[in-house]
This record gives sequence, structure tokens and C-alpha cells, in this order.
Amino acid sequence: MHFLREELQELSNQGLLVNIREIQSPQDAWFVADGKKVLNLCSNNYLGLANHPRLRDAAKEAIDRFGVGPGAVRTIAGTQSIHLECERRLARFKGTEATILLQSGFAANLATIPAIVGEDDLIFSDELNHASIIDGCRLSRAKVIRYAHNDVEDLERKLSEHQARRKLVVTDGVFSMDGDIAPLPDIVTVAKKHGALVMVDDAHGEGVLGEHGRGIVHHFGLTGQVEIEVGTLSKAFGVVGGYVAGTRELVDYLKQRARPFLFSSALTPADAGAALAAVDLLEESDELVQRLWDNTRYFKQRMSQAGFDIGKSVTPITPVMLGEAPVAVAFSKKLFEYGVFAQSIGYPTVPKGKARIRAMISASHSKDDLNFGIEQFIRVRDELGIQA
Ligand SMILES: *Cc1c(COP(=O)(O)O)cnc(C)c1O
Repeated sequence: MHFLREELQELSNQGLLVNIREIQSPQDAWFVADGKKVLNLCSNNYLGLANHPRLRDAAKEAIDRFGVGPGAVRTIAGTQSIHLECERRLARFKGTEATILLQSGFAANLATIPAIVGEDDLIFSDELNHASIIDGCRLSRAKVIRYAHNDVEDLERKLSEHQARRKLVVTDGVFSMDGDIAPLPDIVTVAKKHGALVMVDDAHGEGVLGEHGRGIVHHFGLTGQVEIEVGTLSKAFGVVGGYVAGTRELVDYLKQRARPFLFSSALTPADAGAALAAVDLLEESDELVQRLWDNTRYFKQRMSQAGFDIGKSVTPITPVMLGEAPVAVAFSKKLFEYGVFAQSIGYPTVPKGKARIRAMISASHSKDDLNFGIEQFIRVRDELGIQA
């Protein structure tokens, strides 16, 4: 196994070795990382639900009613009522006939794509799609045709050039590194024209886009026009798990054919209970979503005024562009020294020369928190003598 040491050394030499910090408290606006209290600008906890009292209580109640584990896969040990309730409520929230829960957003993509398309089919996939979409495509054995990022003309050209039994267009809703959004109305139009199904992965969109955070399909007024929506419970919902939303037939079919559903156990009752509480909160009030956007506008405006290049994001994801990877790494380290945890991201996750710090804004931040964060960004830039 000495190759492992060599591989690790090689990653380290290239500056690609990821250092995973130890978090010694809940995911909140501030948390304790490696023994130090720091401002949290790195999580996908958009609405601050990961440690919300109502979700915590709901998880505990679910444990008291249903225990801690699901027992086995649902096709063998049955489905607990709380999972069914969660699926019904998610469907109502998304405005679809039905949903099916999976263990994660990653698993939801692996479950769906190979069940829908196979060897005789074509997948048209945005070149910047998430790794779980890419892996789902690979597992399906369908031929994958990548189109240029958010480029509907390129997509249409490719859709018209290639014929197959079935065509599937798949895209992230919100792209997690740049914070830009898929042009879904145009994608739906060209897909319809060429007889293709549309699947959108709304992982960074739900809880963020649309009224009450119902997601990208609502945001664009496309309810009923996107055949397959994939979601996660691990970002804005603050818990863990994934789901697929669509017609009753789609969900019934996935329950027969999706391998992560058939061969891997369900979420825990606590996860399902907490996710139900998240749906309750979002349906009751739009307040957290509004606060998230208020904070997002505030942070972006102040960072722009301070002269930072914050890219072309239109969502709470705020890339602070720094150029070369070692600069971004040094920047992130200094920020941490000054009490801000914001992760640097470099090649190969983003192109060479486009290294950045990705600041993630949450409804749980106060204006004082954001001001503190911005001050530290300016301080580090001045100390490192960077032009930004
Ligand atoms: C985060 C993310 C996932 C994975 O979600 P998990 O629930 O953490 O597995 C899938 N797709 C996209 C687009 C994501 O951003």
C-alpha cells in the first residue's frame, strides 16, 4: 500500500491536500474550529436551520416515536410513517405530485439518472455540473454529450445533431462555485422542441430561490414543466438527505428501479423528522429567506465597494476572486487567524488562475457579523499586499 503514501505526497506537493478542520460546536453563524471561535462563512446552512431549536426538537420527538435506525432498506423492512409524511410534505412544498427520499443529494443523482436512461440514450450535460450528476451519468452507460456552461445555443445545436431512443438534459440549478443560475426557461423550451426530458439539481436553489425558498422551478414559474427535480436536505434545510420530485409515476418507478433506494437503507427517523420541521418553517414564513437575501445584498455591496472582485454570482454564494491558488490558500489561512473561516478553492475544482475564497452567506449572520467578516477581508488584503 506504499502507493497511498506516494499519492498523498504528490497531492501535498501540488498544494492540493485538503485540510479538514475539526468543528467542536454546532454549525451556527459562529462556531468553534480547531479550538478557535470563528465566523462561519463556509457552510451551506443558508437559513441557519442546522441548529434550529424546532428542528432539534423535531429530531428528538422522531427518535422517541420511531427509534434511531430504519432497520433495513425500505423494500424489505417497510417504510416508516415519518418518511412517508416527509415525502408528502416535500411534494406539497415543491408543487409536484410526489417525492422520494434518498440518503443524500449525491445518492439522489445516482438513483435517478441510471434509472431513467441507459445504453441506447443520450444525456446532454452542462460542462460544470456537480460531481454527483457526472457519476450518475457514468453509471447509466448512456452517451454523455457535454454542452458549454449555460449555453442554450450550444445545447440546441447538440440536441438537433444527435438522435436517440431517449434524450435527457441535466443541469445544476445554481452552480456552486460561481453562484450563477441555469437559464431554465430557455433550456425547457429547446428540450421540448427536441423531445428531451429536463432534470434540474436544485441543491443550492431550494430554501434560497423562489417564494418561501421553493426553488429554481418556482423562481422561473415553470411548475409542471420540468420532469425531474433533484434536491438535498443538507443545505438550506439544515439536515441531511436527498430527494427526487416529480410525477407520481416517476416516484413509483424509482421505487422499483433506483439502486440506492433498493440497496441502501433509508434516512434515519431523526433526519426525516427534522426535515419535516424545516418544511413547516418554510411554509409558515418567508422571513428567513428574506433575511438571507438581505444579508446577501448587504455583503456583496460592501465587498464590491471595498474593491473586491466578487464574480458574477446572483445567489448568496459569493466568490472572492484572488487569481492563483497559493494566494487564495494564504488568504484563507490569514482570515482564520483573524477569526473568519472561509474556504479557499483552487484548481482543479475551478480553472487555473480563477482561485478564490468562497464566502457563504446565511440568514443566521447579523449585520455585525458581516461587517466583522468584511473588515477581516480588507485587513488580510492589505497585509498580503494584493491588488483586488
Ligand atoms: C451539494 C450538492 C449535491 C450533494 O448533496 P448532498 O446531500 O450533500 O449529497 C448534489 N448536487 C449538487 C448540485 C450539489 O451542490
